[in-house]
Amino acid sequence: MSETLSLDLKSGIGTIHGIGPKKERIFNDNGIYTIEDLIYLFPRSYQDRRNVISISELKKGQEALIVAKVLSKKTPNGFYKRNSPLSLLVGDDTGALEVVFFNGRFLSKLFDQNSEYTFYGKVSENYARLQLIHPEFSKSGSPDDIRGIIPIYPKIQGISQKEIRRIQKELRPLYNWVDDWIPEETTKEYNIADIKYSLDNLHFPTDGRRVLAAKFRMVFSELLLMETGLQYIRKGERDNKEYIVIPCKPGDEFIGTLDFLLTIDQQAAWENIKSDLEGNRRMNRLLQGDVGSGKTVIAEAAMYSAAKNNYQSVIMAPTEILAKQHLETFTLDFSKHGIKPRLLISSMEKKEKREVLLGLEKGTIDVLIATHAVLQENVRFHNLGLVITDEQHRFGVNQRRILSEKGAGVNVLVMTATPIPRTLAVILYGDMDTSQIRTMPKGRKPVKTTLFNKENRNKAYSFSLERIKSGHQVYVVAPLIDDSEKIDAVSATGLFDELKKRFKGYSVELIHGAMKQEEKDRIMSDFFFCLIDVLVSTVVIEVGINVPNATVMIIENAERFGLAQLHQLRGRVGRGSEESYCFLISDSENEIAMKRAEIMCKTNDGFEIAEEDLELRGPGEIFGTKQHGIPELILSDLIKHIDVLEKAQQAAKDILLNDPNLSKEEYSGLKSRVNSMFGKELSLLL
Ligand code: ADP
Ligand code: MG
Repeated sequence: MSETLSLDLKSGIGTIHGIGPKKERIFNDNGIYTIEDLIYLFPRSYQDRRNVISISELKKGQEALIVAKVLSKKTPNGFYKRNSPLSLLVGDDTGALEVVFFNGRFLSKLFDQNSEYTFYGKVSENYARLQLIHPEFSKSGSPDDIRGIIPIYPKIQGISQKEIRRIQKELRPLYNWVDDWIPEETTKEYNIADIKYSLDNLHFPTDGRRVLAAKFRMVFSELLLMETGLQYIRKGERDNKEYIVIPCKPGDEFIGTLDFLLTIDQQAAWENIKSDLEGNRRMNRLLQGDVGSGKTVIAEAAMYSAAKNNYQSVIMAPTEILAKQHLETFTLDFSKHGIKPRLLISSMEKKEKREVLLGLEKGTIDVLIATHAVLQENVRFHNLGLVITDEQHRFGVNQRRILSEKGAGVNVLVMTATPIPRTLAVILYGDMDTSQIRTMPKGRKPVKTTLFNKENRNKAYSFSLERIKSGHQVYVVAPLIDDSEKIDAVSATGLFDELKKRFKGYSVELIHGAMKQEEKDRIMSDFFFCLIDVLVSTVVIEVGINVPNATVMIIENAERFGLAQLHQLRGRVGRGSEESYCFLISDSENEIAMKRAEIMCKTNDGFEIAEEDLELRGPGEIFGTKQHGIPELILSDLIKHIDVLEKAQQAAKDILLNDPNLSKEEYSGLKSRVNSMFGKELSLLL
């Protein structure tokens, strides 16, 4: 690689020796476009291959490194034998062993008789003789020696580990030009390794301690970006000293009219919210509560109080289905008190939308239920006092900010059914006050959950038939909309055809994301009113839908769903006082998938599930990597190093204290990275 090219880390990877158009495309498909991207492609783990094992000590099934001489090789001879294996007999001082490469014709010339090689692979057995099949290998003393601590990179289909390691070796001289953007005083204060040291030790490890220091730097730097961005946003929120006081006596009265008593946790959450709304500071609260724990009624009490004090309020939901369901609930609960909630969603008729926009601007509409459509600039309020975001994890930080800036001093409540462990909640929600609802409404029974393999799936369906006969409704969820040639999984349309036959005489319907909105709405409404017995769907029903008469949930190809998703899906049943059931159907032998199923069968507690989830897959997905751009590989270590987070938080705080708008030269690298992590919205601010 020439010197001029090498300086430009933003060049496409096609400029690297040995990466042609085909490999370039493969890398691109995996999100790797530039030389810098490749440098930041970190190993997922490391294999310690420093210990050489004597051949006489090898055991079947073991992954082992041996150093041995080639004693003889059986080369397939003749043109027609192109597919025959290459067999080597190799030996050390203690014994000999066969090494086999299938289709090994082309490898033959790489092995010289009597020369020494290193082999690494899994020991197998053939007629009581030990073998190594397709081991990794290198010639002793060659530059690509496979001895040492070997980085294992994320799997990229079509590019071998060996190749990635070779490319990394080629890029190593470029580390001198990689920008070390962490401000110097931060580096000193927290003893952060510099970028060159870190890259060297991540890609070319020599000892564990150094790797750890390098990882620490990478995790720290990502968290520093995130924390700086989040704290910047929050500072804006906090600096806004205006506040709106909403007396909550009306909310108490509203709660008194309900036909149930609040649970202890609901009561406590309501007390928290009440003192926020009545106090002399704007509310900034996160309400966490598992699916079905009864967050909506708390939101209602708050919005009711606002309306009775002539303040407008809005609740924003992530889907139109959910918004409409809220409209139904709120209308039912509020109409007897003379309040008419209105809806604002994108698919509304123009005329009606115009009317709602006008009503909001004039102040004739007090209670608004909306989707993200409310974030549009042309939505203006007359005297907005309270904004609530339902299922907050579906929205980004910036969307929350836009909503709260629709009025001055607006009170903010965000609700989420994704219970994340306390320590990690700190990252996402920072200095928000939090309330948790952990107790379920009285009489709620845990959903009985069972795992069936495909052979036994009939049991789940015949059980469902019995339930349908006694008037209950059933959800059946499939991972795909249509049958696919590429993916071997049950599709909703395929299942729909099957179940129509199986449940002849009953009403079976299909719903999925690719259907027209009106069609989806009609079906959801029919299901709600018990006109549908069996609803076959994709994950569109995941969020918030509430149909207490539905008591069975069947999830096909359960291995294709994440733990949080399974829990959310299961949360659709068990919402009344009846016993409810969830059947997970899967033939998977994948260890993690099985562990997920096991956890689901074991517990209904969302907080417990969240903890387990975090361990199984790392926090990346839980945070919604998409929203925040946090590389998952880096975050996956976070749970073990929670102290990094605290340090990054403190560092970000110090930096913003020193330079609130990051306008100093020393922060320019930090600033541009924060901007690209948080996107357009923040770059307008910073
Ligand atoms: P989520 O927290 O998932 O949003 P919802 O607010 O939709 O849960 O509540 C689920 C159901 O439980 C609703 O039908 C609601 O009326 C009911 N509910 C809420 N609180 C109680 C309670 N304290 N006792 C009995 N039922 C309740
Ligand atoms: Mg809800």
